[in-house]
Amino acid sequence: MDVINPATGEVIEKFVTDTPQTIEEKYQEARAAQPEWGALMVSERVEYIAKFRELMKRDLDTLALDLTKETGKPLQQSKNEVLGGINKLKFFLEKSEEYLSAEKVNEDGNTEEFLAYDPLGVIANISAWNYPYLVGINIFVPALICGNAVMYKPSEFSMLTGRHITRLLHEAGIPEDIFVPVYGDGSVGALLTALPLDGYFFTGSYPTGKKIAEAVAGKLVPVGLELGGKDPLYVTEDISDIEAVADAVAEGVLYNNGQSCCSVERVYVHDDIFDEFITQLKKKMSAWKVGNPMDESTMCGAITRRSHLDYMKAQIEDAKAKGAKVLLGGKIIEGKGNFFEPTLLINVDHEMDVMIEETFGPVIGVMRVESDEEAIELMNDTDFGLTSSVYCADEERGEEILSQIHSGTGYLNCCDRVSGYLPWSGRGRSGLGSTLSKHGLYAFCNPKGLHIRL
Ligand code: NAD
Repeated sequence: MDVINPATGEVIEKFVTDTPQTIEEKYQEARAAQPEWGALMVSERVEYIAKFRELMKRDLDTLALDLTKETGKPLQQSKNEVLGGINKLKFFLEKSEEYLSAEKVNEDGNTEEFLAYDPLGVIANISAWNYPYLVGINIFVPALICGNAVMYKPSEFSMLTGRHITRLLHEAGIPEDIFVPVYGDGSVGALLTALPLDGYFFTGSYPTGKKIAEAVAGKLVPVGLELGGKDPLYVTEDISDIEAVADAVAEGVLYNNGQSCCSVERVYVHDDIFDEFITQLKKKMSAWKVGNPMDESTMCGAITRRSHLDYMKAQIEDAKAKGAKVLLGGKIIEGKGNFFEPTLLINVDHEMDVMIEETFGPVIGVMRVESDEEAIELMNDTDFGLTSSVYCADEERGEEILSQIHSGTGYLNCCDRVSGYLPWSGRGRSGLGSTLSKHGLYAFCNPKGLHIRL
């Protein structure tokens, strides 16, 4: 399978993909190896992850370079991603032992009652390309720490990164039959769903997540889905610095070229400040330079998947046909690489795909609202529910608004951020279950009740 540089259209490497036979062999090896790995102390497995973290630091520049080559992400953002991964690992190093230790929860006469945790066994991690380090770490790290063997399928758009992750985990001492890479496209992912695994953990789009959940439903094993979003952001009229908020919103929309599950995907602005806000947002978005991702001054690199250019164009055409006005951008940048203009739309409404379906690109629609009630209704008018943001000077008012929004994460005066210490979960079409925080550790274990009579 070809690895293509999306900024140039060139084939930069070829991968040998897995077949039903290689996958079956890898599965058998992982199954045989898992009990020994699962029998280690949590602290021992955490040590391997600590070593992996050091190796990520050592190889930072190489990891970032290959990430840029295969995804088109600007080099500085690739470095930020690897550094973000290194930072996120801190949570697992600090907290895993505390959360996973057996705990005496009750005494009943001469019986002691303990809550303990068993690994699930052999699990699949079917992953996405947009933040391959960050979304991978959410899953394979806690899965390994909990004592599971992991069959890891990186996206076909980030296989160089998948190979680096594998190399570094093995160099850190994690056995080759405990962390097992599987390479290929969706058809190879589908082969994993046919295996008798003990859990399926997926990061990607809603349609694929639904397909996987349906394919494995009969196995009655845990399924975790981290899916897309249509994340709203609301700006109230009381903010004191419109320019600073517009700057933050531009970043929430355009960082990683908008290819983040928690990118800001739609904006609602109070009528009193709408015109000034739009002027500032247009200015800020115009400053996001599109270009060669290897160039240090580039802020928007290439769009990873070429087919996505037409998808975004169609959303914009649909919006224009229904009355939207393009204030900035709106077009594919013609050439060998996959580039799209940062795009700002106004006069939008919820009849338009761009306000309803995930865009996953550097495109934003901004809508005028008259009140918090109207904003809340529009923010909740979605099948998704990953993150929601409110920019508001009054903390109480901002928190009250957030409490009424159906999403797994709420942001007040910030957006597009993730913390290892907090659960990452989606409502509706944004997913099932949670990664990160203690919930993201327990997702990879079976709880066990132990009744010990002395
Ligand atoms: P995708 O659904 O196209 O592919 C994801 C993975 O699934 C890939 O590895 C792919 O090869 C595999 N796959 C495809 N069909 C399959 C099948 N039938 N059976 C098994 N595996 C199959 O998604 P993508 O383009 O890689 O990622 C983008 C999407 O991921 C966006 O919707 C984004 O919002 C979402 N995402 C969500 C989060 C989150 O934390 N919630 C994080 C990152 C990305």
